[in-house]
Amino acid sequence: MSWHLLGAGSLGSLWAARLSAAGHSVELILRNEQRLADYLRAGGLQVRQGEQTLRHALPAGLAGDPLPIRRLLLACKAYDAADAIASVATRLLPGSQVILLQNGLGSQQAVADLLPHSQCICASSTEGAYRENDFQVVFAGQGQTWLGTSPANAAPDWFGELASAGIPVSWVSDIDSRLWRKLALNCAINPLTVLHDCRNGVLRAHESEVQTLCDELCQLLARCAPEAAIGLHETVWQVIDATAANYSSMYQDVQQGRRTEIDYLLNHACRSAEQHGLPLPALKQLQQRLQQYLQQRGLPCR
Ligand code: NAP
Repeated sequence: MSWHLLGAGSLGSLWAARLSAAGHSVELILRNEQRLADYLRAGGLQVRQGEQTLRHALPAGLAGDPLPIRRLLLACKAYDAADAIASVATRLLPGSQVILLQNGLGSQQAVADLLPHSQCICASSTEGAYRENDFQVVFAGQGQTWLGTSPANAAPDWFGELASAGIPVSWVSDIDSRLWRKLALNCAINPLTVLHDCRNGVLRAHESEVQTLCDELCQLLARCAPEAAIGLHETVWQVIDATAANYSSMYQDVQQGRRTEIDYLLNHACRSAEQHGLPLPALKQLQQRLQQYLQQRGLPCR
């Protein structure tokens, strides 16, 4: 059975390349005629890992093509997810399965609301990839991807195909909790790296600010995903130390004048706090500072 990939960017290309190299049929769905022409000119997807560069000349089409879709990887940014899925919704067969690779929270529900007859599988990934050029991706960091449904279900029968294709995946029964945990880590680290214009490790010099955010994030997690609150402070410091020399993804987006996923991370956290009637002043102030910073640079604050 074939896979379709909607969102042939950094992470999506990694998945497509590995599935295809393992002998699975994968078809890309590109944004428009122009992107399809760009792709054909590029001669396929190119993935570089260390010294090795491999080209994958996968078939590609457009959302409006007639062929039905049974298994879809949705690998666009969170803010594009709902529009992207709407463009192929009529092609998805009843009982089809859609893997959602978006970071943060909020986009998964928006997609699921549009797909009452498909099964949505959420993913949380620590793999790292970036685009060098159009359709040229660098596999920058080994990692792990956890997949699961909410509410929890058994893994689909094809799940083993992913691991045999070399994609490091685990099926979990607590994907919501994992998404919340990653969101909290992101909220404690990424906005501060933007506001202090620094690498992750420099946050050691802003210890009390990080600690206060962790305190408030724990209060939020206690309401939304209690398991995710356990040991949050320690994990935040572990991540800061382990990635001390790195610039966060949000920092890189801002530096390159790209839209951030703030609405699915910090804004989502603040909205959830309000819904629970939880006053979290440090988180709210962080949101205001970050939104102002983005606005000043002409970037969306949603
Ligand atoms: P990316 O490199 O920007 O790729 C997104 C792709 O989606 C682009 O190729 C874009 O097409 C495509 N797209 C958007 N709307 C579309 C539409 N309507 N139809 C067809 N294609 C569409 O993004 P990414 O870095 O892979 O991130 C994807 C998600 O994974 C994000 O939520 C991110 O936070 C998460 N994530 C990424 C990484 C990583 O290392 N990259 C790691 C963990 C999680 P165009 O090329 O035409 O713009």
